[in-house]
Formats: sequence, C-alpha cells, structure tokens
Amino acid sequence: SEENITLLTSTASSEKIGELENDTISYFIKKKLRVWCKQPRWQWELGTIRSSSGEKASVLLSNGKVMKVARSELLPANPDILEGVDDLIKLSYLNEPSVIHNLKFRYSKEMIYSKAGPILIAFNPFKDLQIYGTGHISGYGQKFSDSHHVYALADAAYNDMIRDELNQSIIISGESGSGKTETAKIVIQYLVALGGGSCGIENEILQTNCILEAFGNAKTSRNENSSRFMCSFFIPISIEIDLFFGCVCLNPTHTRTVLLEKKALDTVRICEEDQELIFKMLAAILWLGNISFQVIDSENHIEVVDDEAVTSAALLMGCSSQELMTALSTHKTQSGDGAIVKGSTLQQAIDTRDATAKFIYSSLFEWLVEQLNNSLEVDKKCTSKSISILDIYGFESLKKNNFEQFCINYANERLQQHFIRHLFKLEQEDYKSDGIDWTKIDFEDNQECLDLFEKKPLGLLSLLDQESSLPKASDLTFANKLQQHLDANPCFKEQRGRAFSVRHYTGEVLYDTNGFLEKNRDTLPSDSLQLLSSCNCELLQFFSKMFSKSESQSNFLHTVALNSQKQGVGTKFKGQLFKLIHQLESTKPHFIRCIRPNNKQLPGIYDEDLVLQQLRCCGVLEAARISRVGYPTRMTHQEFSRRYGFLLSEANVSQDPLSISVSVLQQFHIPFEMYQVGYTKLYLRAQQIGVLEDKRKQVL
Ligand code: ADP
Ligand code: MG
Repeated sequence: SEENITLLTSTASSEKIGELENDTISYFIKKKLRVWCKQPRWQWELGTIRSSSGEKASVLLSNGKVMKVARSELLPANPDILEGVDDLIKLSYLNEPSVIHNLKFRYSKEMIYSKAGPILIAFNPFKDLQIYGTGHISGYGQKFSDSHHVYALADAAYNDMIRDELNQSIIISGESGSGKTETAKIVIQYLVALGGGSCGIENEILQTNCILEAFGNAKTSRNENSSRFMCSFFIPISIEIDLFFGCVCLNPTHTRTVLLEKKALDTVRICEEDQELIFKMLAAILWLGNISFQVIDSENHIEVVDDEAVTSAALLMGCSSQELMTALSTHKTQSGDGAIVKGSTLQQAIDTRDATAKFIYSSLFEWLVEQLNNSLEVDKKCTSKSISILDIYGFESLKKNNFEQFCINYANERLQQHFIRHLFKLEQEDYKSDGIDWTKIDFEDNQECLDLFEKKPLGLLSLLDQESSLPKASDLTFANKLQQHLDANPCFKEQRGRAFSVRHYTGEVLYDTNGFLEKNRDTLPSDSLQLLSSCNCELLQFFSKMFSKSESQSNFLHTVALNSQKQGVGTKFKGQLFKLIHQLESTKPHFIRCIRPNNKQLPGIYDEDLVLQQLRCCGVLEAARISRVGYPTRMTHQEFSRRYGFLLSEANVSQDPLSISVSVLQQFHIPFEMYQVGYTKLYLRAQQIGVLEDKRKQVL
C-alpha cells in the first residue's frame, strides 16, 4: 500500500552508486571497452580506451582523433546489442550520453516513440509519418506488443479501464511545439475509433477542439499554432468514455481554463450560432487595444484620443464613446469623505484599458468553454468509467522567468510528485507479485520544494498573497519578504534585488518578481466594472455580474476567516491544481513526454543539447535514475538461461531455467545485492547485464 513507500532522501545509496560507477570505469579501462568521452561544451563522443596511466586514459574517438582524458570525464557506453533499444531502462548504463545516443539512433530511423520505464517518450517528427489513421488503428491490441506507438498506450489505458474498472488518465507534457496537442488528438482519434465512431460524437469532439484552438491558440516562435490556454497548465479536454449498450462514445466535458494569456488573436475560426456575439466581443477587444492616449500635463495625466477606435469599441460594447472615455481616463480613490474622482496618468489609463480587454477576453473564453461543455454533456447516469486526457504545459526555464513560469513550474512540481508516487507504486506491485524482497528504494523526493510553495503562512504563495494585499507593497518589498522568511528552506536561494531562485527538481530557476504582485492581484478597476455592467450588451452584463459575485464571495470568506488573505491568482491556481490532482489520484495514470527535436520545426534534425535539456526538464532522466536504483533489468528465467546458459563451465545437470540462471549468476560472481530471483523473472540492478554481455561476446 501507499503508506509502505518510504520516502528517503538519497545519501547512502547514491554514494554506493558513485562507487559502482567508479568500479565500472576501472573495469572499462582495464578491458579497453567503449566509453563516452566528455568534449568541450558538454558534448559526448564515443571512443575506445587505448591505454591508461594513473587517473588519465588515452581514448581513440570515433572521429579518428586520440584524446587524453581524466577518468571523471569518461562514462561507460552500452554494448552493441543495446543499440536503439525501445525502452531506455533496457540500457545497462543509464547515463545521459547513452540515453541521448539511443534516442538519436531511433529518431534517425523514424522510430519516434520509445519508453523510459513507464513513460512513453514521443518525438515530434514534424512530418506525416503515415503511422496513424484507420489502417493503423484496426488491429490495435496485439499489434503493439513490441512497438511503442501512442495507439498502444491509448489501447492499454482503455484495456486497463475495462479490466480494472478504474478511471484512467493520460498525462501529456512537454514544451511548446513538442507535439502535445497533436498527440492528444491522436489519442482521441484512437479512442473514438475503438467505439466505432457510432455515436457520431467524433465530429463534435473535433469541432470542440477547433473552437478551443481558434480561441486559445496563437502563433509563437516555437509553434505556428501554439495552444496558449495550456500554458496555464490546463486541461483542454477531459473525455469520458461511456459504456452504453456496448458502444463507446466520447464526451468532452469539464474543459477548464486558467490564466489565459494576457494577447491578441491571430486567427478566429468559429462555427456555431453564438458566432455574431462572439465576433462582436472579439472586435471590441481589438478596438480597445487600439485606443490611444495623449499626455496633457507635466504630471502625466492623459486624455483619450477620440478616434475610430473609441467609437467602434463603444458601439460594439453597447455604451457611448463618452462613457468609455471617462472610464478609461479617470479613477476613483477612497478618501475620508467618500470617493473622489481623479484624472488617470498614462500608466493608469493603459492598465485600465488592458485590464478591461483582458477581462472581456478571459470571460468570453470561459463562457465559451462552458457552452461547449453544456452542449456535449450527456446523460451522466450512464457514465461509468472515464479516460481523462491532459495536455500540460511543461517545465520552463527561460533567461528571465516571471509569474507565468512560476505557476507553470509549481504545477510541474506537483505533477512530478504524483508521478513519483505512481512509479513507486508500480514498481512495488511488480516486485511483490513476483515474490521478491521489496527493499526500500531511495529517491529524490520533491516535498521540500512543494513546501516552499505551499506552506502557510510562510510559503511562496501565501507570502505573495499577503504582500499583494498591502497597498504600499512593491515587487522589491515582496522579494525582501521572501528572503526574510524562506531562507531556511534549502530549495530557496536569495538573489540580489528583485530576484529569487528556486531549486526545482529539474534544476535551479531564477525568477524576477517584476509584475508578480500585479499579476497575482489581477484586479479589474471598479470603474471598468461599472461601465461593463451598464453596457447594453447581454454578454458583458453577464460577465460583470459573475465577476462581482465571485468577488463578493471571496470578500465574504476573507472577513469570515480571520488572518486569511484575499486569494490571489497564484492561490486560486493552487486550488485548481489540487482539484485536478485529487481527480487524478483516483485514476491510473499513463505518461507521455513529448520532445521537440529542434527549434526549426523541421523533420530530420536532432539537436542533442535541446533534447537533453528537455529530457532533464520533463523528468525522463529522473525516472531513469529512479529505475536504476531499483532493478531495471528484468528477464524471465527462460530468456536469461537461453542467452547466458551456454557460458556455464560445467554442464548443468538440471535443465530447468531457474537453476541454470542462478548458476550463471554464481559463476560470474554477480554479488547477491545486485540481483533478486522472482517466481517468473530475474531482477538485476543496472549495469549487471553489461558484464554478462561482455563475457558472452568474448566467448562467441
Ligand atoms: P504543442 O501542443 O506541444 O505546443 P503541437 O501539438 O501543436 O505542439 O505540435 C506542433 C506541430 O508539430 C503541429 O502543428 C504539427 O505540425 C507537428 N506535429 C506534432 N506532432 C506530430 C506528429 N505526431 N506527426 C506529425 N506532425 C506532428
Ligand atoms: Mg498545444
């Protein structure tokens, strides 16, 4: 059970692994085997040891050069038979260059799918590989036993759902442009085809997708059609498979959004009745963006330029130009005797204008999503089990990281925790069912980092809310507050000025607090709200009513719960995240990590540095690392005895695979702690199979 999984931070065993690695390199040097040799700029080149003296070795590189390198710059390479293995944990040596090389080999052969233990790694091919569609879908099931098509994963999820009567989830993560949304669509297509498409729902799903994309997507440098609503980490589609008179149909429901990007639309393609209203609002947003201001005095006060932008925006919104101009150029402040109206400065006016446009846009998107959900909602009573598909924006580490990255990375920490727990559960189940001694496995737990974000009252999110509620606070005072209270957490690192760093599981990320408070507050100026509620437009009235309702609700909670701050965007995000994780807890997860092989969006190019950075970020290497402290090599007694039995010096009297296997292990002095014998399989620690492979090669 879950409680039996002890979370230990790795100390003792990582030392042991370090020793093992050292021993391995000694062995490689002695035997003059193939090694990875570190090059300037973190590249690795394959080579063969020629000679060694002391701490240095001379290596003949694959490019013909000879290099003298320190032992610490060498890593063991895998035996030839492991070239291009379909699952990374089959590698005897799970180091970064081996992983990169293996995936490169597969990518060059257009094998875009690989496994890293339980994770499916999917490279974006940037071209049509002709591996999808009806022809490939028919014959699902058995066909995928040895390949790792994404259909196989969808198929497994479906079968698990039926067999275990348990809800499933397919969690797709990766950077922008890595192929998450395409992968989600491929999965949906497959699941729809499983149901024979007989419910006519496929078209509805595709339409939903088209509308969401039209609204939530924008062209970015990374992706021509990037889903910006996912950058908020959210579920564009959670589908439910209904078992209904033996037919399977899919219903996109519970589509949710958060943190819709604060940007103009590039393309809009909508195909429904509410079209006109939606178009009107979109046009109003665009016109609002065009409204300009003129500075009229030395204190930076402004006047709205009364041009076509104002007239058109006002017309579309259903108010007079004058009303709109007043709302944008003035603001109310509270003083002793009540509210006084003051002229706005340029910055204030710009902020009001943008906040208004953003409010309309995000309300519109949320409203649209709700309409879509409503129209697709089916009779809940016949819903038995579901498969949720999550399209999640991956971990981000840019040169300058802001509030958006802060939220995204926090979400990824939460998911990593979910992933780790699941992985260990799986491992444990496998060991238990095969009757082997379940020893505790050490791994890096990310609880400390989660505490840094979530602890109350002294965590990043709480402190952000506290600071956001102080009128005099600034980004700098926020940064100072963090330093003052969080210094003790090992995942926090203070930086100069407005910045701070967090040690994430993928590495250290530097955040600039510039704009944190403002983005966390995300307020709509009361004047704008008043204007919107008075507009002669049903939709705008509705949006402002909903907004006031949620505001008064949170104000109410605020006054009821002493000491509690008004919830900022960050905390709300956390709440939604918890709901999602909670929902996920009751599902069996299947993980897909999408990789963008190059920044050019072109086929056939494999940028090693870029791939490595993504593998690190999406936790593939971490998963591989976790696997290596367990028993990554698993072979049935039959497989093992067939492959290595002939190495036995004395013919084994017994023909039974189990005793042949054990004799092999004993003859080659594989230490007891390096393997376990299960009922059906032999479990070997990482690196052990390489030793046997070498023996085998010498004999053959
Ligand atoms: P993300 O959602 O991760 O930002 P997308 O799913 O939008 O990325 O993919 C970006 C582009 O890459 C797609 O528009 C498509 O051209 C290409 N692409 C992604 N996955 C595949 C695939 N499996 N086969 C072919 N092309 C793909
Ligand atoms: Mg996308």
